[in-house]
Amino acid sequence: MGSTQRDVLILNCRDNLRMAFLHMLIFALFSLSTAALAAPPLVAVDVGHGLKDSGAISARGRSEFAFNRVFAEVLAGALRQRAIGVREVNFAGDIRSLADRPAQAAGSDFFIAIHHDSISESYLHFWDWDGSEASYTDVKRGFGIFVSAQNPDLPTSLRCASAMGAMLRLAGFVPSTWHGRRHLAADAENGVWYYDNLVVLYRTTLPAVLFEAGVIKHREEELELLDSERQALMADALATGIAACLFVTGKSARE
Ligand SMILES: [Zn+2]
Repeated sequence: MGSTQRDVLILNCRDNLRMAFLHMLIFALFSLSTAALAAPPLVAVDVGHGLKDSGAISARGRSEFAFNRVFAEVLAGALRQRAIGVREVNFAGDIRSLADRPAQAAGSDFFIAIHHDSISESYLHFWDWDGSEASYTDVKRGFGIFVSAQNPDLPTSLRCASAMGAMLRLAGFVPSTWHGRRHLAADAENGVWYYDNLVVLYRTTLPAVLFEAGVIKHREEELELLDSERQALMADALATGIAACLFVTGKSARE
């Protein structure tokens, strides 16, 4: 999105979001479900797909893995800036199986899988890109955050997902409403949906979310997702949400 467009969005949303975020922060601060963390939290950042199975293809022919890899790096930097440790999962793109992802994350406090979204084939249109035919959509765009009801720490997964979504909205990002067609809402306003059968989300002992940064089949959003300034803004919002949720100790000050 352009900077003026973003400013307008931010102006429109800021008051509502500020209230929503404050409520959520208060809720997070009083929640007792998170165990005290003695050391700074460690977050496993998983790059979705890989060099062989590279995921979706953008409207301009770029692989989803390439988008995931770049954004994971930006997010890792934003987390480290907040003194949050990062466990890099599949940054080389050579992980062998889906189950290896949560396995490599074991011992962390939180797991986030980085993805970029596509759309079902029936909604695709075709255009000439760089001399060859490529597919795109105009109807779906925006971010999405997924949690599994089968995750062993669903309350933390949900709390972190909502914190992340609220921070993204505060920064001017818009969640996709498209997911409501296939997924039950966990917190639709903040772009959080249930996706129960994702191996990376349930075959783990960690609270976990899968993040779809945006729709790379959408021609405008694809360009926005390639913008490094926007990537930094998005990573900053996510890292702030993750920090707000993981730094909760669940202990009162005098204990
Ligand atoms: Zn993906």
